[in-house]
Amino acid sequence: MSSRFSGARRKLSRLLFGRTLVLAYHRISDYHTDPFSICVTPKNFSAHIGILTELGEIISGDQLLRRKQRPRFMITFDDGYLDNFTVAMPFLQARSLPAIFFVVVSLEETSLYWWDALHKVFLETKTLPACMEVEVPGYENALTYEVEPHIADVSSLPQWNISMPPPSKRHRALQDAAFQAKVIPPKLRREFISQLAASAQISIASLHSPTSSPEHWRAAHSAGYEIGSHTLRHPWLPALDTFSQREEITASKTHLEREINAPVRMFAVTHGGAGDYLPSTSVFIKEAGYQYGFAVRSEAIGWRANPFDLPRLYVRNWDADEFRQIILKKLS
Ligand SMILES: [Zn+2]
Repeated sequence: MSSRFSGARRKLSRLLFGRTLVLAYHRISDYHTDPFSICVTPKNFSAHIGILTELGEIISGDQLLRRKQRPRFMITFDDGYLDNFTVAMPFLQARSLPAIFFVVVSLEETSLYWWDALHKVFLETKTLPACMEVEVPGYENALTYEVEPHIADVSSLPQWNISMPPPSKRHRALQDAAFQAKVIPPKLRREFISQLAASAQISIASLHSPTSSPEHWRAAHSAGYEIGSHTLRHPWLPALDTFSQREEITASKTHLEREINAPVRMFAVTHGGAGDYLPSTSVFIKEAGYQYGFAVRSEAIGWRANPFDLPRLYVRNWDADEFRQIILKKLS
C-alpha cells in the first residue's frame, strides 16, 4: 500500500470516526510542592471532566476500540493513590462516568514510592546535614548530596518539577537522586531509600505514600470500575531481567485477580515513556492474557494501534484553558 493511499485512508478514518484519547492521571489532590508533576487539583480535575463531556464521550474499557463519530476519552489513574478512590471516584460516580484504576499490587517498600520518599526528604524535611552520603549496594562509590541544611532557606516553588533547572541545592539533590532511584531495581531501591532516610537523620517509618488498599479496589470493582495492574513493585522495567519483567506483568495479574475476585484485563507500564519499556514488554503483556496494555505517549489512539501498547496522555495540573487547548490539539 502506498504511503499516499494509507495517508488518505487515515484521514478518511479520522473524519468518519472520532478519535479516542486516553488520559493518565496520578493524584487528585491540592499540594504545596509537586516535583514529579503527579497532582491535579480537584478544581482542575472537575474542569477537565466538564470539558471532556462537552467535547465528546467518556467511555469504559469495553468500548475502547469501537469507533464512533464523536471523540471519545478514557480516564485512567496510575499508582493507586488513596485520593483516586476517595476524591476522584466519588466525583465520577456522581456523574455515572467510568474510569480505570491501575494499582501496584504488592508495594513492598512499606507502601512507599521512591518519588514520595525523595520529595519528603529533600523538600519537606526541616533540617538536613549539609552533605548527605548514601551507600548503594552494587555501587562502587557512595552517592553524595549537598543541600541547604535549613528548609527555610529554600523557596517552595509549587510549579517546579524535576525536568526544570534546579533553583537550589536541595532541588538539585532531589533531581540527581530521582534519576538514580528510578533505575535501581526494587530490591536495592528499598536499601537506597532506607540509607537515604538514615543519612537525613529521619526514620524510614515517617516516610509513606498515601496509597489505597485491596478493600478500596474491591469496592471500586463492585461499583463497576475497572481495576488494572501497574506491576507488583513499580520497577523501571528495563532494569530487570526477562524473568523478573514477566513476573511483574504476570504475577501482578494473578495477585490482583485474587484480591478483587474478577478478571484483570488491563495493564499500564510503569513510567511508560519512550525508553521506560522494551519491545518485548508488549509481547509479555499479551502472553500474560491482558486485553489491553497502556504506555504514556502524548497522542490519540491511531489507526492500527497495537492493543498492547496503547498511548495515553500524561495529564498535568492544567487549568481549563490549557487543558482544552491541549485536548483539541491531540484530537486534530
Ligand atoms: Zn506509576
